[in-house]
Amino acid sequence: MTSELTATIALICTSAVLNLYLCFLVYRKRHLYSNIADFFIGYAMTITIYCFAAAFSLLAESMVEVKIWTTIQYIGIAFSPPLGLLFTLKYLGTKLTPGIYFSLLIIPVLSLMMVATKDFHHAHYRVFQQDPSLGLPYLYLEIGPWYVVHGTFTFACMFFAFSFLLIRWKDTAQIYRPQLVALLLGQFIPMLTAFIYLIGLTPPGIDPVPIVLWITSVLYLWAINSSRLFTILPVAKDAIFNSMNDGVIVLDESNRLIEFNQAYKRMFPQINKKMTGKDIEKVWKDLTEEPLLKNMETNVVTEITINHSIYQVSFSRLRKASGSLIIFTDITKLKTLQMKLEHQAYYDELTQTLNRRAFFEKGEQAYSGAIIHDVPFIVMLMDVDFFKKVNDTHGHDIGDKALQHVASTCKSMLDEEMIFARYGGEEFVLSVSGYSLEKGEKLADQLRMKLESSPLVTENLTITITVSIGMAIANTDTLEQLLIKADKALYTAKRNGRNQVSTFERVEII
Ligand code: GH3
Ligand code: MG
Ligand code: MG
Repeated sequence: MTSELTATIALICTSAVLNLYLCFLVYRKRHLYSNIADFFIGYAMTITIYCFAAAFSLLAESMVEVKIWTTIQYIGIAFSPPLGLLFTLKYLGTKLTPGIYFSLLIIPVLSLMMVATKDFHHAHYRVFQQDPSLGLPYLYLEIGPWYVVHGTFTFACMFFAFSFLLIRWKDTAQIYRPQLVALLLGQFIPMLTAFIYLIGLTPPGIDPVPIVLWITSVLYLWAINSSRLFTILPVAKDAIFNSMNDGVIVLDESNRLIEFNQAYKRMFPQINKKMTGKDIEKVWKDLTEEPLLKNMETNVVTEITINHSIYQVSFSRLRKASGSLIIFTDITKLKTLQMKLEHQAYYDELTQTLNRRAFFEKGEQAYSGAIIHDVPFIVMLMDVDFFKKVNDTHGHDIGDKALQHVASTCKSMLDEEMIFARYGGEEFVLSVSGYSLEKGEKLADQLRMKLESSPLVTENLTITITVSIGMAIANTDTLEQLLIKADKALYTAKRNGRNQVSTFERVEII
């Protein structure tokens, strides 16, 4: 054996061992990695088989042995390029369908069968014999038609894997570039070597590809250690970016639009790639005719309403890169629910007036305001007269309608700042700031008379509803004490015959 051949076998074995080591390394840690690791293991495993079989083929002493090792080599030669492409596609975040698997694996299966049966049809190699001048293990080969199919397919796989990776170069952050370099060279080195071999520039009789595959293995090892290949998929960023539910736009340091994701495009369909490079305020005005964020210098979160949708907009400066992100989260549903819950917490469902809890909250505030501004503060309690009879005579539904009628009639006569609420059952409460006792009594009587003169009209009924009102004006009381006074006055109004207003202060005076 010549020293040249020994060196060749040594290099091929190095490639084989390194690839085997890669398989074990990635396999052992595969639970830490995303599922691209499985594709890589398949890829490295087929290369390992290729290299070991190539080494054994060079040690073979007969053509029978050479043929066996050549067939085994084809497990790697035929399958590693498509597995490399599948790995690359997965790495780049492409969704792999059964159709892609099938179309990438059918030719390798056929090639392997062709090589295994080559002596019967000569479709892969027309001539496959030992080199007449150099002798074994050097081979003299003439290719057949299937070899052209296989060769074209193999080159295409490597070429596409290389090209897809290259396209992503610009989008890949600096720290992940070593990964990309390793993967690019991992495709480029065997592709170039195979090409040089095919055009006859390498020494005759030996396939040079396994000789150089140790270089690609070293590159992969470097990529795994330097930038944690497999643990993260930086190059699949686009896929993640576009599968987000939040709309994201990326700006450069001068607030010019660099990128937007698909969710953003769904929220604001008018945006298009031509707007890239324009000032965001201008882009935004074109889209919505409104200013975006008044102060984009600090990290701010605001809410904006556009076309009946409510968005939470957060603006943040990128720490490691000069630029910023604006994230739009559609909170319409959340806001609607929040508003509904708030409404339910503060409003009475039947009459759509404030409820008792809301009255106390707002009433306390209004009372404090009245004390601060030194204006009178009046509270009235209103109770529907003989309401039980309405229920008993006409049914509960009509009773409900009567309560709605009382509430809407009163509300139509009151000012915004007056606090009117359902106090409970068929009782309502009203607080008024800034009214003298006389003015309050006048208002109470207007309410009473209005109700008396506006009967509830249903399909076949007209029911006159009257109310009794008890009122009290604040002195040094708490709101609760004032309500007790109003209740006492209400009791007097009821006792005196109903459908009337009674004032606590006057009752007390009398
Ligand atoms: P008074 O003039 O003394 O106030 O007599 P009244 O019949 O109005 O007084 P009472 O407090 O005895 O009756 C109030 C009734 O209001 C009893 C209750 O069934 C009815 N009621 C309370 N809440 C509702 C409601 O939400 N819907 C209906 N339909 N009835 C209600
Ligand atoms: Mg009552
Ligand atoms: Mg009543």
